[in-house]
This record gives sequence, structure tokens and C-alpha cells, in this order.
Amino acid sequence: MAWANWTDQQKEAMLLAMEALKKQIPQDVSITDGQLCPNCGHPATQRYCSVCGQKLSWKKTSIEYHGPRHQVVQFAKAMEVELLENDYKGGWKDCNSSFLLEKLDEEVAELKEVVKLCRFTEGNSGEKKPNLELRRNVSSEAADVGNIAMMLADICDAL
Ligand SMILES: [Zn+2]
Repeated sequence: MAWANWTDQQKEAMLLAMEALKKQIPQDVSITDGQLCPNCGHPATQRYCSVCGQKLSWKKTSIEYHGPRHQVVQFAKAMEVELLENDYKGGWKDCNSSFLLEKLDEEVAELKEVVKLCRFTEGNSGEKKPNLELRRNVSSEAADVGNIAMMLADICDAL
């Protein structure tokens, strides 16, 4: 049924339903915006705005308060170390996605190899912890995977 043929009552009911649905899509609450409901501007304190019913997401606030968790910071440092070692190659601006996707598969395969050597991750609690060299290899291979994923996001203009 075309919108033009709807009665005013039907249109009003549909618009109300659409508005209610939109409020179910979480909107970011930000410290820089004064922790206000992004829909109506009322101070936000819970998962839903107490005034307009907008569903709220507190992820952004949490990142603004605490910064990234320490594993993410350590991982970013490991990524940067790998990037610095490869800067002489001239960066990834001219890489296309099919090249990078192939590279991602290679790096994932390398990560799988080193993770397999960390036998204790398979639940064999009796196995001793991996030595420093092995842990460094895991960190470096994981960072390579992270870097290729980051480059893919970057060439998609998503960062
Ligand atoms: Zn609100």
C-alpha cells in the first residue's frame, strides 16, 4: 500500500513506531558532550534515557575515562615496533585490498605456527610457560596480523 493512500491515523502510527525503533539503536554518551542524552540533551545516567527513552551506549565514555585497556596499549606498541622495522618499504598507501588480504592469510598462518608452540594454551596446565623468545615471536606475529588488519581498515578509509 502506497504511503499516499494511508490515512492520517495510519501515518501517525507508523511514524510513532519508527521513532520508537530508532530509540532502540544505542547512541553514544560522551564525556566531552557533558554525558547528556544525545537525543534530548537530558543528563544521562542509565542504559536508557529516563526522559525520552533513548537507548544509550557507554563505550565511548569508558574509553574517554580510562583509555584503552593495558593489553590494547601493549599490542599497539608491538604493532608500532613491527611498522618501524618495515618503514623502509614505503608504507601501505599503494597496496590494494586483494594484496593485503592475501598477506593477512600468510600472517595468520605464521601466527598459528607460533601459537601451536605455546602448548600450555591447549589446557595442558602441566606444560611449562613458553620461554621469552617464544613469547616475543607470538607477540610479533600477532602484531603482524594486527597491522595488516589495520592497513585494510585504513585503505578502506575506515580509521
Ligand atoms: Zn533523552
